[in-house]
Amino acid sequence: MKVAVLVKQTPDTAELPKVSAEDVRSGKVKATMVINPWDEFAAEEAILLGDRYDVDSVAISMGSPDAVDALKHALAMGVGAAALVDSSDISGGDMWTTSSALAAAVKAEGAELVITGKQSVDDNSGAVYAGVAAKLGWPLVSAVTKVVDISNGQITVERMVEGAQETISVSLPAVISVVKEINEPRYPSFMGIRKAAKANIPVTPAANLGVASGSGKTQWTNIRKPEERKTKCVIIDGATVEEKAAKLVDALMAEKVI
Ligand SMILES: Cc1cc2nc3c(=O)[nH]c(=O)nc-3n(C[C@H](O)[C@H](O)[C@H](O)COP(=O)(O)OP(=O)(O)OC[C@H]3O[C@@H](n4cnc5c(N)ncnc54)[C@H](O)[C@@H]3O)c2cc1C
Repeated sequence: MKVAVLVKQTPDTAELPKVSAEDVRSGKVKATMVINPWDEFAAEEAILLGDRYDVDSVAISMGSPDAVDALKHALAMGVGAAALVDSSDISGGDMWTTSSALAAAVKAEGAELVITGKQSVDDNSGAVYAGVAAKLGWPLVSAVTKVVDISNGQITVERMVEGAQETISVSLPAVISVVKEINEPRYPSFMGIRKAAKANIPVTPAANLGVASGSGKTQWTNIRKPEERKTKCVIIDGATVEEKAAKLVDALMAEKVI
């Protein structure tokens, strides 16, 4: 079975306090680009499934030609192969455009299971896996914390819900998005980095996968900083811990916090 891991290249969030997201988007500042941290969990899970089952893995990214670096990171971790969908010739896209192109790339790879991160750290939609599943017509399980079993044409997973853990089985082919509780992503080994550096990654222009400029359905009409929150600090005083706690509860009730 082939597993496709979807990895996006995103700005290094450790740098973002120094530059604004808008500076990066407008091209004023060139940020260091890295593999989307949430997608490292997806890559790790594909590698671990390769240890448990007869599974080949391929990392797929849609982005500019620079996004090969994110793919090389996945290869260096141990993902078997990589493919880039080059979106540099199309404009006016959105989550649906991305999902359409990625779904077509998954089909072209002949994958039966798609693993994605839970969201990108730059655009944060948490929507692409739903779009990919919808485009492919495959079942989707989100927020997966454990792959329990793959057998008899089914995948069984655990997912986290508020205050509980669910076990779900869906038929393959399927899409799953994973969360950080699923595993501990490995650091690429020195040998892995060397091997990935030499890898020849096939590039397919997004237009060849049926997406065109202006095919997005979303318009970004404004981007602004949220209003600054006005805060004040109140020190709760009292002779004993009990008195301080009682005053704190009164204060919280007065503010309708509890
Ligand atoms: C041509 C084009 C023009 C665009 N123009 C704009 C614009 O003007 N303004 C704007 O804000 N955004 C724009 N976008 C970006 C777009 O709206 C989203 O950023 C993108 O589709 C992914 O959404 P997300 O980053 O929120 O991913 P999420 O839905 O948060 O990602 C969830 C998971 O899906 C997978 N995934 C997501 N994106 C990719 C990818 N590219 N490759 C591989 N896997 C992926 C990863 O596993 C990720 O963890 C454009 C996109 C395209 C293709």
